[in-house]
Amino acid sequence: MHDKQRHIWLQHPADSEWAKFCPRCGTGLVDRYLEAEQHTRKVCSACDFIFYLNPKVVAGAVPMQDGRIWLVRRNIEPSWGSWTFPGGYVDLGEQVTDAAIRETYEETLLNIRIEGLLNVYSYTNVGIVLVVFRATVTGGVAAATPESQEVRAFALDDIPWTRLAFPSTRDALTDYLKFERSGRIDD
Ligand SMILES: [Zn+2]
Repeated sequence: MHDKQRHIWLQHPADSEWAKFCPRCGTGLVDRYLEAEQHTRKVCSACDFIFYLNPKVVAGAVPMQDGRIWLVRRNIEPSWGSWTFPGGYVDLGEQVTDAAIRETYEETLLNIRIEGLLNVYSYTNVGIVLVVFRATVTGGVAAATPESQEVRAFALDDIPWTRLAFPSTRDALTDYLKFERSGRIDD
């Protein structure tokens, strides 16, 4: 694994031990129990800045076209070489739906229309919240990009279940199939 890829992998761990210095004034952070919140936080020992550590929001889309869904084979760690639907971090100030559209284009060169929310996925001790949308391809010609070594449309009975990138990929695609069959995901 390249150093850059490792850096990307480690930038959002689910613990706070990596946080060493105040982002406002540069003084060391200390663990302090905050009575008002009844929670120990990373706090600056000089300016009292509270360094809240929150999950990162990831937006994803499952793009449908002619009865198939487009998946990408990841060209970055983690899970290099495994399949998932397009997605990525939401920028600060960006609408989640816009992030899903942008990430889909960046990873597949496909334009999509958001059809609706599929579901929201979060897991204990994982530092992200994943918001996944159902989408329809409206244009573009799919091609690999720096982030995706291969882009391919899969029939719904041909999804590469044993080569998916993350547990959330499996969970979201499972929900997607339920929705396609019955119009709902809670069965
Ligand atoms: Zn400070």
